[in-house]
Amino acid sequence: MKKHLAPFPLLLLFLLTFCCPYRVSATVACAAPDSLMAEAKGSRYREAVQKLSGAIKFKTISDTEDKNTFADEFIALHDYLENAFKELHSRLTREIINKQSLLYTWPGTDPELKPVLLSAHIDVVPVEAVSMDEWEQEAFSGIITNGHIWGRGALDDKYRVIAIMEAVEQLLLNGYMPERTILLAFGHDEEIGGNEGAGAISELLQERYQQLEAVFDEGLAVTKGIFPGIEEPIAFIGTASKGSANFRLTVKGDGGHSSIPPNETPISILSQAIVNINNNPFKAHITPSTKETLEILSNRLGGKSKFAMQHFGLFKGTIKKQLSKNMATDALIRTKASPTIIQAGEKENVLPRVAQAIVNVRLLTGETEESARAHLVKAISDERVEVAGYGTYSPPSAVAKTDTWVYQALKNTIETLFPEALVVPALFPGGTDARHYASLTDNIFRFAPQLVTPDDATRVHNVNERIALSVFDGCIDFYNLLIRQVADQEEYFVQIVNPGNF
Ligand SMILES: [Zn+2]
Repeated sequence: MKKHLAPFPLLLLFLLTFCCPYRVSATVACAAPDSLMAEAKGSRYREAVQKLSGAIKFKTISDTEDKNTFADEFIALHDYLENAFKELHSRLTREIINKQSLLYTWPGTDPELKPVLLSAHIDVVPVEAVSMDEWEQEAFSGIITNGHIWGRGALDDKYRVIAIMEAVEQLLLNGYMPERTILLAFGHDEEIGGNEGAGAISELLQERYQQLEAVFDEGLAVTKGIFPGIEEPIAFIGTASKGSANFRLTVKGDGGHSSIPPNETPISILSQAIVNINNNPFKAHITPSTKETLEILSNRLGGKSKFAMQHFGLFKGTIKKQLSKNMATDALIRTKASPTIIQAGEKENVLPRVAQAIVNVRLLTGETEESARAHLVKAISDERVEVAGYGTYSPPSAVAKTDTWVYQALKNTIETLFPEALVVPALFPGGTDARHYASLTDNIFRFAPQLVTPDDATRVHNVNERIALSVFDGCIDFYNLLIRQVADQEEYFVQIVNPGNF
């Protein structure tokens, strides 16, 4: 039990991507020189590799200061995509939302069927100036070398944008027509909350369709070798995600000269409040989705783990205790509070009149902004500390059911492309654009179709982001098959699987 449950994994990972190697205007052909095509020779989809490489060159950076700083880059990327995916652009309807996000509609032959949405994002996080030297290949170069495509966005999330578009392009060229309408939504501000991209797209879809059949977004991925006792890869599907709330703690004082300070100052009171929050964690709770995760893994492990899960009522306490020991697994069983900003004082000999901190809280299924606030107030236990809601609040998501045809279609697709993998539904501890689509369907699945190594995981939002050509190829195959699996009426989906024909 102990040995097996402690390092329970869950790497939050995302992927994505795209097109050809230079900035090209919409009127210029997206042709790559022979030398670059040669670098892509390890791929079955060399042109798609070039397309991704080219898409990485656009500095589509989400900037919290000024949302229009990189607007031209987004617009140039739109033009580039239009040129790179000609068939897609001639057959699907493209809408530009809030000037920078993209929504494509591929109308199905049966308008009665609810649409399926594939979500990815075209924005990337900035590259810190101080880390520029640490990149082995320039961050926005899109260089293809040694079996990898390099650059910011290679793993998060341009590769998924390009893979999805390439899959659609291939299906169109093969004469495929979906019964169900397929929507492609590529937000431009996922990294800073997604309100203007996915948020606005969601409102539009609400008006247009009221409900969707399912949403597929980035999230968890396929991992290997991180769960002792399980040799085969594990494909984690995020069937739920935690919510997020922020609180501002404020302590006020009388100020004055630092030579004659009172026993307690706003800074010392605020510091104690933060220590109290740290010392009083939220209660551990194994939610139904995490219980499902544990059941599948323990079944596979057998022995003591299986026995403990079979007698869950009896071993619940021990299981929680084991999961609490590891940072990643602890985040799966409780709401977590982290102070992220602290501010007070301007001069070394002046007592500040106000000290403030922001606490970011990630909410477990069932938690609300109010219940989280009540917990913090109780943990702090000091009336001098004011605790107020701050910024954006996203509630925990609904939990997607796993006994539905659409989950089975996704599982089927994963098992076809990762035949050795054990498919496991799990809680996704982060937040993505998917949260904006919560009102449209409960069938939201957060899964990036790639095998993520511990090395890959350290490169997301970091230096030397890159994607292996083979991983990118697999991603195109995945969306090609997934679309065919979910685009037709549910009773047919099993027959559509044809892994030999991508
Ligand atoms: Zn992402």
